[in-house]
Amino acid sequence: MSDVLTLTPEGLFCPKAQAHIDPVRPVERAIITHGHADHARAGHGAVLATPQTLDIMAIRYGTNFCGQAQPLSYGETLRVGSVDVSLHPAGHVLGSAQALLATPAKRTVVSGDYKRHADPTCAPFELVTCDTFVTEATFGLPVFRHPPASQEMRKLLKSLELFSSQTHLIGAYALGKAQRVIAELRAAGYDKTIYLHGALVKLCDYYKTQGVDLGPLETVGRRGKELAGEIVMCPPGQLSDRWARRFGDPVTAMASGWMRVRARARQRGAELPLILSDHADWTDLCRTIEETGAEHIWVTHGAEEALVHWCELNGRKARPLNMIGYDDGEDEDLVAAAAS
Ligand SMILES: [Zn+2]
Ligand SMILES: [Zn+2]
Repeated sequence: MSDVLTLTPEGLFCPKAQAHIDPVRPVERAIITHGHADHARAGHGAVLATPQTLDIMAIRYGTNFCGQAQPLSYGETLRVGSVDVSLHPAGHVLGSAQALLATPAKRTVVSGDYKRHADPTCAPFELVTCDTFVTEATFGLPVFRHPPASQEMRKLLKSLELFSSQTHLIGAYALGKAQRVIAELRAAGYDKTIYLHGALVKLCDYYKTQGVDLGPLETVGRRGKELAGEIVMCPPGQLSDRWARRFGDPVTAMASGWMRVRARARQRGAELPLILSDHADWTDLCRTIEETGAEHIWVTHGAEEALVHWCELNGRKARPLNMIGYDDGEDEDLVAAAAS
């Protein structure tokens, strides 16, 4: 494939560094791009990641999640084997990084998951020029163009105004999405207390320690109907769970890039779909590929075919990796449930 990066059953592997990137099975040495469960797994020997990703892994898996944790801050370079490794903001969730593997001959960037839209809860995506760019394609179809977050928040606040006697219950993944919804609501001027399902508390607390302003938050605890007219956040799986019945007849909302697809919203039991994605949309996938200047594009997971086709039409060599073990990177109900 390339002398810097190959594909193994465990995932992407850099032979010159003897390290896997986001491996789906336990390996000796891993570079982890971000804390989502499909990229960050427990049980590796050594783990190289940003300090925040290491903290998030410790919060989710316990402090013994790997043999040896090695923090590498954004922009620092570490020689691993015969490769210079550095991490650069991916704009996806707090601590998320693109890994640059540089040799004198070649620059390879593994972007993990990334987005270009502004997000008040994490460092903005940093463009890194390279020869080979490894990209996701979660929303790799031209139909996916994410609206601005402010527009979706206005939709929610309007509903809260119209249905002021009902609790507004919002399903959002525990890492990244929940905190982003809260921060976007604050940016839209909502300054009342926001109530949290217990499974969201730990990571919201962690974001606060990292300087992300989430405003007043409280755990739902035993409360139910007394939260009429308030905003309550929970993991997506709880929207249609017995737990939600305590609020009487809530307005159910779900925040995800998939809310563009009506069937997905219905399947999630979301009456009010909020299109809020932590992944690049079609426009940004194409723009990013162009801006990196990379001649070779590898597409890891998602809708690979359309993006590979687009790359070829635009004079780049592209290959779908059809990697298994990665979902849309947001499906974290199980992790959230385990943490509650
Ligand atoms: Zn992710
Ligand atoms: Zn992913």
